[in-house]
Amino acid sequence: MALPLQRVAVVGSGVLGTQIAMLAANAGYKTKVYDPVKGAFDAVFNKYMADLKAKGVTPLIPFDRWEGIRKNVMHVTDLAEAVKDAQLVIEAVPENLPLKKQVFKDLGKLTPPNCILATNSSSIPVSRMEKSSGRPEYCLNIHFYFPLQGVNMVDIMGGSKTLKKVFDTGVEWIRTVNCVPLRVNKEILGFCFNRVWRAIKREVLYMWGNGFVDFRDSDRAWMIFTGMKEGPFALMDKVGLDTIYNIEMVYYKDSKLKLDKPPKKLLDMVKKGDLGLKTGKGFYTYPNPEFLQSDFIGRK
Ligand code: NAD
Repeated sequence: MALPLQRVAVVGSGVLGTQIAMLAANAGYKTKVYDPVKGAFDAVFNKYMADLKAKGVTPLIPFDRWEGIRKNVMHVTDLAEAVKDAQLVIEAVPENLPLKKQVFKDLGKLTPPNCILATNSSSIPVSRMEKSSGRPEYCLNIHFYFPLQGVNMVDIMGGSKTLKKVFDTGVEWIRTVNCVPLRVNKEILGFCFNRVWRAIKREVLYMWGNGFVDFRDSDRAWMIFTGMKEGPFALMDKVGLDTIYNIEMVYYKDSKLKLDKPPKKLLDMVKKGDLGLKTGKGFYTYPNPEFLQSDFIGRK
């Protein structure tokens, strides 16, 4: 049986944490966010809103409600204060296992004993960090995509000791924030849909990184084939190329297959600080990236 939840905390309010906090507050949860960087939430909020408006996307939460919801999200500058009465904490800090383990360790000490601890990691199963919390029975992967853009599906996966009531609570909670839970019954790297997206990413990165195909043609192909307004490279820009690189490295370290290693050209972009939408330059330049121009698909 699912447990009733009222209070949610989000740790790390970057690209994903900001959206998760918005969804939770929109659904009526008392929502707190913590991020060591002042203004992190607002920076993402403003850029993301502008990006969605430029693309003419109808977001999951109508734009006229965004400001009101922003005001309902409580920004707390102290982690202990942010999570002390939480019933569900979702961490969305960078994709780095030692950092996530440290966050789970802190959360294990600072949250009430039956508070559920979830990671929004795109690639790391919670079983690799659950022990640090001292509370593996209450740990989950709850992995969002681009919820505010309307990609309202969420992977959910337990760790090695997750209680059924904790998993069921996660499933129900996902439904209450207007998303569709994708239940993973047995641990697998990449969860449900993320593994499919990952296969696409790996192939297009390989073709671009080794000089076979210009990234714009991969995007054009995807846009024509699926009818989407952006291709895989535009999507990677939106995710953040540092996050993409870190995720690809998790898969590579797991398989040790050469084909899984992200191309050096991607690492060079990350080192230069060309991280995509969040820094204004990645594969494309922002605002007004080339793939949004009306002649992009047919351009010579
Ligand atoms: P991001 O870099 O945009 O945001 C990370 C935030 O965490 C930053 O604001 C940073 O200041 C903050 N932070 C750093 N150390 C912290 C700490 N110790 N405590 C609290 N906050 C801390 O990253 P992101 O893209 O939002 O990714 C976050 C997580 O979500 C990653 O695990 C990633 O794999 C996952 N994810 C990302 C996407 C995406 O599209 N970007 C999609 C699904 C899942």
